[in-house]
Amino acid sequence: MHARPVVGPLLRVRGLLVSNVFLLDGGSGDRWIIDSGHVLERPLLLAGLRRSGFLPGEVSGVLLTHRHSDHAGNAAFLRRTFGLRVFAHRADAEVLEGRQRAPRLEPSSGDPIAWAFAQIENHTRTTVPVDVALAGGEQIGSLEVHHAPGHTEGSVLYRHVGTRSLLSGDALLAAVPPLTVAQRMTLPHPDYAVDLDQALASLRALHAAALDYDNLLAGHGRPILGEARRLAEDLLASASR
Ligand SMILES: [Zn+2]
Repeated sequence: MHARPVVGPLLRVRGLLVSNVFLLDGGSGDRWIIDSGHVLERPLLLAGLRRSGFLPGEVSGVLLTHRHSDHAGNAAFLRRTFGLRVFAHRADAEVLEGRQRAPRLEPSSGDPIAWAFAQIENHTRTTVPVDVALAGGEQIGSLEVHHAPGHTEGSVLYRHVGTRSLLSGDALLAAVPPLTVAQRMTLPHPDYAVDLDQALASLRALHAAALDYDNLLAGHGRPILGEARRLAEDLLASASR
């Protein structure tokens, strides 16, 4: 088994070191790959898909949480090779489709590793045609789309209603950047956010609007099951900005 069951029909591809790729196997018409990982981990992703029995030809599409290279890195390959439709928020589609340049990340934390990763992102162009441009508020299969700008302009959260699970990309993390070794819930990292204040405001607004979930399946770190919403509220309440 190369995709580990997380909760209900949600699976996590095993063996990926950079970023998480989740699978949702909700049956015909509701099979999704959520994020596509870093291009360097393509062989691991393909092995994970193959060995989990998740046939790319039966997948409904690739849902991107945002445009960064460690999440959208294999989307063009999956689209080209398996004919999968790619979904992303329309604001990130501007960059993914090459109409706009990504704003440069300007690291300010003083962390040299975070600085180095930011420079790599600044020098990486991740492009893919976006077949379905999202606005937020849609229902895609059994997932709801929630726009949460700030980490990138078009960051989205996908909420799986049936299992009360939130797939958050980098808008809310389950491991501490930049090395993501420490496993705990954490807010977006200032060095990688287009607008950190906006990222926090997005999260606060969604929680104030009663975004309801128990489980967090973030772009980095192990899934947090059971009390994720309370942890997120505590984090947001204690944030210094
Ligand atoms: Zn990111």
